[in-house]
Amino acid sequence: MKLDKRVSEILERAFGGVSPGKEDCVYLLTFPQASPEAAAIRTAADTLLRRKSENSAIILGQIGVEVSGCEGNCRFCSFGKDHTHFKSSKMDDEELERQVHSFCDGGDLYGLYLLTMHDYDLEHLLHAVALSKRIAPPTTQIWVNVGDTEREAFVEMKKAGVTGVYHVCRIGEGMDTSLDPKQRVRTMHNALDAGLELYTCCEPIGPEHTPEQLVENMFIGIDMGITQHAAMRRVAVEGTPLAVHGQISDLRLAQIAAVVALASFNVKTMMYMGIHEPNLLGYISGANIITAESGVNPRDLHEETSQGRGMDLAACRRMLFECGFDYIRRGDESKIPLTFDYLRQTKSV
Ligand code: SF4
Repeated sequence: MKLDKRVSEILERAFGGVSPGKEDCVYLLTFPQASPEAAAIRTAADTLLRRKSENSAIILGQIGVEVSGCEGNCRFCSFGKDHTHFKSSKMDDEELERQVHSFCDGGDLYGLYLLTMHDYDLEHLLHAVALSKRIAPPTTQIWVNVGDTEREAFVEMKKAGVTGVYHVCRIGEGMDTSLDPKQRVRTMHNALDAGLELYTCCEPIGPEHTPEQLVENMFIGIDMGITQHAAMRRVAVEGTPLAVHGQISDLRLAQIAAVVALASFNVKTMMYMGIHEPNLLGYISGANIITAESGVNPRDLHEETSQGRGMDLAACRRMLFECGFDYIRRGDESKIPLTFDYLRQTKSV
């Protein structure tokens, strides 16, 4: 089988330690999802990321601690204030404790995200962080996924024990959302300035986005020095304005994740690569982060996403095992062998 010459050269260079730049990434994304070139791109990303991580993957948990009709008003999100059906609520301590225990008691969670809306109550969040820190083992990091935030508030979060922040300047930010793209990027800098790690994502990817748009978006984080990158497709959530465009396939998402992985794996601080939502193809295309979710979720209409789109921990462990990872890593980078016996011990099968 003969591959496109330029693709072969780009992948050769990646194996030699040189990541593709913007133009090459656009080129890689022009190939159809079922082409031999797309398969080669996915395989190269998979091989390089497994090498970098000693064939290990990490499991994250996400808990939505606060919900309201969100001012961000993103036209793809179930919380957008003009189209949401969710009522405002904050998770109480009892429920938060129950959920933190359910994520952390197995001892193999790398990081736990606390999710809020764009506008959020900092005191409530800091309280939730403190409570989560008390319950989670020291091998589980605490992270936040919050709206635009000043440096001072991030400093408070760091003091409370937060390791890192998920933040994104989305594709179509300012057009498909009511938020200012410059402020989104400033928030990412604020997090880094406060000494927090930065996790980002090329998202939310829809069928109408061009390779150029995807590449511009993925390089925002790469140029900034992220610790984690990811790719997320836009889920056509019923009732959200952009659902009309439909969705890309898991296979196309895997190709995009592979290109993000190739473009970012040489960033010094870059450790792990995510894919949303988790799917088998993504974990054989460079992704090695899987996220279990409970509480509210922007891609779901259920108030408890573990009863809807969200995956539980057992399903996450099983998916990583099926994709051939040798280890699960904890938040201190220690490794747990991912064997069938481990699945049995953790009641994951
Ligand atoms: S994606 Fe985030 S900022 Fe946008 S509406 Fe949803 S919760 Fe708000």
